[in-house]
Amino acid sequence: MEAPTEQQLALCPGSFDPITEGHLDVIQRAVHLFGRVIVAVACNADKQPLFTVEERVAMARSACQDLPNVEVASFEGLVVEYARRRGAKALVRGLRAVSDFEQEVQMALMNRRLAEDVHTVFLIAHPDHAFLSSSLVKEVCRLGGEVAGLVPAGVAARLRERLLSSGATAH
Ligand code: ADP
Repeated sequence: MEAPTEQQLALCPGSFDPITEGHLDVIQRAVHLFGRVIVAVACNADKQPLFTVEERVAMARSACQDLPNVEVASFEGLVVEYARRRGAKALVRGLRAVSDFEQEVQMALMNRRLAEDVHTVFLIAHPDHAFLSSSLVKEVCRLGGEVAGLVPAGVAARLRERLLSSGATAH
């Protein structure tokens, strides 16, 4: 496949708590389609993430360090406003299953209402990752299961450290 001649900028927004191989697959395909990608890590005040936004950004940066044309940044507030500020015309989201669809469409339509010039693009999850979510990875790790291969090696180590060390508080 040839890369697009004119580079466009797309945002891959999410919680990335933590980044998984499923996220990385979507990010890589988004770079291929658009040319440049910002992985936009949401501060999301109303969720209770396991990792702070700084930790989530650091893990995503390390996971993306060998991907050309990928930047990792955090943002607060409306994702469409952040997209506009950065000059991104597209929000790329991954769809794993029908269960993702309803909420994703609702969010895409709201974002369209807020900013008609920012378009949501959905990429269907790779079949190997369609079962994979940050929450499930956290749950498996918390229960002592193996998460190698589902997340980058550095992330697996951070998860074990956070969830299996004595006195860890589970979110
Ligand atoms: P959010 O809290 O915004 O849903 P997530 O970090 O959970 O943030 O997900 C960010 C994006 O990545 C979403 O579009 C989600 O559907 C997608 N995604 C998550 N896991 C996978 C996966 N295994 N394969 C493809 N896309 C995924």
